[in-house]
Amino acid sequence: MADKLDAAWAEAWLRNSAAVVAEHRKELIDLDRAIGDADHGENLDRGFSAVVAKLDESTPETPGACFKLAAMTLMSKVGGAAGPLFGTAYLRAATSVGDAAGLDAAQVAEALAAARDGIVARGKAEVGDKTMIDAWTPAVDAAREAAGAGAGPAEVLEAAAAAAQQGAEATDPLVARKGRASYLAERSAGHRDPGAASSALLLRAAADTAGGKDTAGEGGT
Ligand code: ADP
Ligand code: MG
Repeated sequence: MADKLDAAWAEAWLRNSAAVVAEHRKELIDLDRAIGDADHGENLDRGFSAVVAKLDESTPETPGACFKLAAMTLMSKVGGAAGPLFGTAYLRAATSVGDAAGLDAAQVAEALAAARDGIVARGKAEVGDKTMIDAWTPAVDAAREAAGAGAGPAEVLEAAAAAAQQGAEATDPLVARKGRASYLAERSAGHRDPGAASSALLLRAAADTAGGKDTAGEGGT
């Protein structure tokens, strides 16, 4: 397995993200219908379709350039809370990796940390507030731990994806303290946070892309 993740991985991750978001569009809409305004799946689907259209026009030469393209596109195409939050995440990841041609395990972990820090800087959410941060922070912790233990970049992403999924599931019983869902107070409990769910899907796509797996649809090798 590659010891560094290159621009081809980053581009494939974004394309696979678009496929996964499209596949889970209805599920994300339904989650947001329960505790929000039912637009999260539609917002992200529109945004990632636009990312794919941009990638069809030009091929970014570094992972950082791929992240920057995603950041700019998501910020302009995805409305609501999630657009600026995910936009900031990709922008901070782009800054973190700079113009490196390949990302090793530590660079991957630090890019994820930078993305998470950007979301926190923008949205001021803490773990337990029932937001996407409940997926991102365990993902960052797991990624750093894996990188520190000598894992390769694909394994770092695998650890992050698994932790993000657990973190998203752990939002089910929580009462929302940030974002639109917080208007529901106690009634927000018993539903998964849509942004945590979508964040886990994006990190799963990152890991599967690095591991040569196909996230969208069944099977694949
Ligand atoms: P909107 O709430 O404007 O309709 P979306 O439905 O696209 O936007 O996104 C909602 C998601 O955004 C939530 O599920 C939550 O994960 C995330 N979110 C909302 N506010 C914050 C915040 N302050 N910090 C982090 N994440 C947030
Ligand atoms: Mg919404």
